[in-house]
Amino acid sequence: MNWEDNVRKVIPYTPGEQPTGEVIKLNTNENPYPPAPGVKKALEDYDISELRKYPDVYGGELRDKLCEVYGTGKDNVFVGVGSDDVLAIAFLTFFNGEKPVIFPDITYSFYDVWCDLYRIPYEMIPLNNAFRIVKEDYIRPNGGIVIPNPNAPTGVEKSVEDLEYIIKNNRDSVVIIDEAYVDFGGRSVLPLIREYDNLLVVQTFSKSRSMAGVRIGMAFGDSRLIGYMNDVKFSINSYTMSRLTISAGVAALEDNGYFVSTCERIIATRERVKKQLSELGFEFPDSKSNFIFATHKSVKAKDIFTAAKDKNIYLRWWNKPRISDYLRISIGTDEEMDALIAFLRDYLDGNI
Ligand SMILES: *Cc1c(COP(=O)(O)O)cnc(C)c1O
Repeated sequence: MNWEDNVRKVIPYTPGEQPTGEVIKLNTNENPYPPAPGVKKALEDYDISELRKYPDVYGGELRDKLCEVYGTGKDNVFVGVGSDDVLAIAFLTFFNGEKPVIFPDITYSFYDVWCDLYRIPYEMIPLNNAFRIVKEDYIRPNGGIVIPNPNAPTGVEKSVEDLEYIIKNNRDSVVIIDEAYVDFGGRSVLPLIREYDNLLVVQTFSKSRSMAGVRIGMAFGDSRLIGYMNDVKFSINSYTMSRLTISAGVAALEDNGYFVSTCERIIATRERVKKQLSELGFEFPDSKSNFIFATHKSVKAKDIFTAAKDKNIYLRWWNKPRISDYLRISIGTDEEMDALIAFLRDYLDGNI
């Protein structure tokens, strides 16, 4: 017997690389635009003497502002340190049965890591050949369901009606819809939380609000769901949302015009890049997110990934079944995407 026998061993989630220096970074779906100008002001004007006190355990003004913006009650909102924290708490709270939790085979690669960590049984449901979720496949015995919408890394959106079908036919399970990318032209299931007490909607400030570095995520749901999540959270660490984080989050929500206009810019860039990628021989499922999941008709994704990296253009590639011929390309600024397209043109022409 050795102490290592008692270690809770787990193969952790692998995030995208964070290279230093001048690179074109299209590998982690970060927003290329800075946070709303009010965020800078809020942090600069912050009364530092406040930091000697603990923050509000529910996220205080940030929770209030979220209720106002999203039209929910206080009891319907949970805030956390990015949506990874919110999802980790939700898995721990709701996925505690004998039956497997189900989610797509091609999806956010953190879900199976949490299941392994918490020893939750799970089953991956294959997407169809067009990388779409087949709603009937989710009508089977399960201990919970988690679906990102739009899905990652495919970018494919599922309709609110199809998701409602899954939620409605699984009233005995908690269904988590991970809406990390919903602000880039998707439709949210948020209004359904009034009707379905088994629905938890998770969102984040990391992508659409340009605040991956601040760490804010939130969940919306029936007050009983949120109450159970708070019980678990308060059994681990009550003070996850720092006072600075709360201030920055409130300021971001106050500038709705900036949020809408940066999302619109990213959508416009994405639609242009779709056309250009098609002209270069790429194929991809239609994306409603801030990335495109593309395969090339004749050139291997791994080769493009490596050649791009040599030119300081970072993309994401997974050596995994079904998707090893695909690259996930985050949408950057127009200039960054021009540089990517110019590189691809040269590379595919054999000039690099
Ligand atoms: C980025 C992402 C998250 C987590 O983001 P946070 O930065 O922790 O808020 C959650 N789910 C999906 C599908 C994502 O792509």
